[in-house]
Amino acid sequence: MFEDSISPRDAQWREALRKEKSARERSATPRVKMTELAPDYRVTCSEEVNCGLTPAQAFTEAIRCLDCPDPQCVTGCPVGINIPGFIKNIERQNVVEALAVLKETSALPAVCGRVCPQEKQCESRCIYNKMKKDPVAIGYLERFAADNGVSDAPVVQPEPNGHKVAVVGSGPAGLSFAGDMVKRGYDVTVYEALHQIGGVLKYGIPEFRLPNSIVEREIDALAALGVKFIKDCVIGKTLSYDDLVNEGYEGIFVASGAGLPRFMGIPGENLIGVLSSNEYLTRINLMGAGHDGDTPVPVGRRVAVIGGGNTAMDSVRTARRMGAEKAMIVYRRSEAEMPARVEEVHHARQEGVEFLTLCNPVEYIADEKGAVRAMRVQRMELGEPDASGRRSPVAIPGAIDEVEVDLVIVSVGVSPNPLIPANFAGLDVTGRGTIAVDDNLRSSLHILFAGGDIVRGGATVILAMGDGRHAAASMHEQIQKQSKQS
Ligand SMILES: Cc1cc2nc3c(=O)[nH]c(=O)nc-3n(C[C@H](O)[C@H](O)[C@H](O)COP(=O)(O)OP(=O)(O)OC[C@H]3O[C@@H](n4cnc5c(N)ncnc54)[C@H](O)[C@@H]3O)c2cc1C
Repeated sequence: MFEDSISPRDAQWREALRKEKSARERSATPRVKMTELAPDYRVTCSEEVNCGLTPAQAFTEAIRCLDCPDPQCVTGCPVGINIPGFIKNIERQNVVEALAVLKETSALPAVCGRVCPQEKQCESRCIYNKMKKDPVAIGYLERFAADNGVSDAPVVQPEPNGHKVAVVGSGPAGLSFAGDMVKRGYDVTVYEALHQIGGVLKYGIPEFRLPNSIVEREIDALAALGVKFIKDCVIGKTLSYDDLVNEGYEGIFVASGAGLPRFMGIPGENLIGVLSSNEYLTRINLMGAGHDGDTPVPVGRRVAVIGGGNTAMDSVRTARRMGAEKAMIVYRRSEAEMPARVEEVHHARQEGVEFLTLCNPVEYIADEKGAVRAMRVQRMELGEPDASGRRSPVAIPGAIDEVEVDLVIVSVGVSPNPLIPANFAGLDVTGRGTIAVDDNLRSSLHILFAGGDIVRGGATVILAMGDGRHAAASMHEQIQKQSKQS
């Protein structure tokens, strides 16, 4: 996958490193533990919980990697990062080169090092698992290289190739597409509906998990390469498809995400004090609610967050930081089936979040002013596996409890943003409302490619980024072919 790597396995320095220490010596050291802010302190602020590795910790952890001849960790990475290549650079203390290896395949390593579910991906395939040892801390090392390997070499502007392309949406899919295309010499303009660039990285994932300054750094690097960003511009409303074509764009990459919240359709969901995670997190993360912004946000004393994904964990942990005395996750399956990252569940529990698993809300009850005061919760048990492969929740007849709440945050999934599918004539859409694309991420409109959550439904940062890169390669090939023909 990484034949062009700048740090191939047969490089002399890597061969020399392998000879320096035996596998036994390398595997004798236990996996590094990252320092975290104390739970009592971190619930009082929005500071990042994970503190990163010190250089000494990172160099020691990098030694653990055995530099396998057939590294399975790479097959567990959705974008095929040359994982041993970057880790061995950390071992030889060349962090700038480590970051350069990461940047060969990942546009946003500082982001992925913080939010990727490594335990389900690269780290789950590490040879150490077979040896009944803890896997190499690949995610921690990625973060270390991204934070510490930034070179001060001046930015070299790519040679313009005379072609213009547009991007709709500035989340990880749009940013990684923009990065690849600007490096190929394209004139790239990113259109974003919101007043900030970054998509979910800014409006969804909270500061205590992914500081905005980290996202800004990646955006600044793209701007330095020449990517233009136009904010507050809703494609499909402010500008139409025809407007973009008339602007002279030869390719359009739609990466408009899946930001439309879903609700459960149960009685009481319209009460005051019941809102979606999307609204709750956007108000706080993007609009400054609860800090110094003018945007209001309800502050609950007893908060229930419905769902078990990353968004639910981010919401419940945010509620604790906003002062909730009791913050609960209400999830219809058991903890083993929760889709959230293991680390998020662990951190939430450390921060005093309560877990009402095998519980499903069936109704919200109002007080005399129309605000939610309680929820009726159906207790569940696990039945046979369903289509997702997870054991399905089955209601226990008559087992209904009433739980006092004054704020409910619904976090049961998202649907694709409907504006582009609804407003671009001739664009094929699937039954789920996602944009239909072929294997090259090309849509039914010849110049329009799409990727990320608008194609996959809610997925992950790394998959969105992978789509951005894939679409960039496909669109580049198409534009090159066309310009040769004309
Ligand atoms: C709270 C939360 C926590 C998450 N945590 C994790 C995690 O820990 N790890 C992980 O891997 N994934 C996580 N995810 C999922 C991940 O963030 C998404 O899969 C990813 O951001 C999708 O990227 P994208 O570029 O496709 O879309 P998005 O990030 O959604 O970006 C789309 C952008 O397009 C803009 N847009 C939409 N319509 C238009 C239009 N018509 N015109 C102009 N702009 C438009 C939107 O405003 C938005 O900025 C999380 C998601 C949420 C909501």
